[in-house]
Amino acid sequence: MKIKNYLEDIVREQVNRILVDKKNICTCEQCRLDMMTRALNHLPPKYVVSQRGHVHTRLDELTTQFQADIVREVIKAIRIISKRPRHK
Ligand SMILES: [Zn+2]
Repeated sequence: MKIKNYLEDIVREQVNRILVDKKNICTCEQCRLDMMTRALNHLPPKYVVSQRGHVHTRLDELTTQFQADIVREVIKAIRIISKRPRHK
């Protein structure tokens, strides 16, 4: 059994979903992880106990307000990281 931040999977999905439409910014692994980290650091964590590291995560189990907060932080993180990637 492990403790896991439920938001990690949700934020990863949202970053990937939004980046599909962004052709003009870097979407490498490092930038994606930086975007995820920034968004997660700006959202309250939601810890759950998981069996074998697997958690069934669904955005629609969260309140509408929390979903909106997640999407807003992900969009902000993408904007900020894409302006200043940590690599050349
Ligand atoms: Zn990059």
